Amino acid sequence: MEITLLGTGSPLPDPRRGGPATLVRAGGQTILVDAGRAVVMRLAGAGTLPVLLNAVLITHLHSDHITDLNDVITSHWVMTGIETPLNVYGPPGTQTVVDGILMMLAPDISYRLAHHTDTLTYKPKIVVTEVKPGATFAIGDVQVKVARTHHQPVEPTVAFRLEHDGKSVVLGGDGIPCDTLDEICAGADAYVQTVIREDLVKLVKNKRFLDILDYHSTVEQAAQTATKAGIKKLILTHYVPSMQPGQEDEWRAFAAKYFDGEIVLGDDLTTTTI
Ligand SMILES: [Zn+2]
Ligand SMILES: [Zn+2]
Repeated sequence: MEITLLGTGSPLPDPRRGGPATLVRAGGQTILVDAGRAVVMRLAGAGTLPVLLNAVLITHLHSDHITDLNDVITSHWVMTGIETPLNVYGPPGTQTVVDGILMMLAPDISYRLAHHTDTLTYKPKIVVTEVKPGATFAIGDVQVKVARTHHQPVEPTVAFRLEHDGKSVVLGGDGIPCDTLDEICAGADAYVQTVIREDLVKLVKNKRFLDILDYHSTVEQAAQTATKAGIKKLILTHYVPSMQPGQEDEWRAFAAKYFDGEIVLGDDLTTTTI
């Protein structure tokens, strides 16, 4: 199982980091988790394309996690040779968001259908499956479990556990530690968590920025969750504030205070195998 951090950024613009998106490749399946800013560029950087995705999983409907889902949809559609569904799994509300994206794309869709009358005879086909905590489903030979996370007032939000051939990875999305996250992480080989640096966020005396402290895991909290669950590899992403070049060891040290296993972090396209 190969895990690639496609986008390690956050809502804060950073020219070097795309928005939240992670790629998991396992057993011939290519699975995208979240679709933040620049996701299609980073998919290309990882050597794949939307049309090659077997599924898109969405952890929650915050804009930074879905802002380029429209690009995934369009790029997938225009590269298909025959009508091919794009399978999207996300919490309740995902269908409404996808319907809205398709409405936004309606002029573009009509232009392309009018231009490619012989070769493009169908509209984008997006098959949305809204998943609730406790749900399980399969993407090819990859088993997926869904758990509730705690990112209130954002509701609903979910984590996904992907299992293949005895290996497992949990994608925690955004949120603070909670029992259901602990449960789905238990015994997993790898755990991908979005994190913030509390010490740095607190330096910014701006109420709207300080608000983020109450619904995001700090680096230390992610490490504590990993230790509690017996995780082997902790993968950190969605760095707030943006991790600057040369700061990697500093961020790693915050996690290492509470976690003895391997800690993975870095730039976009950082890849690790379990
Ligand atoms: Zn986020
Ligand atoms: Zn969020």
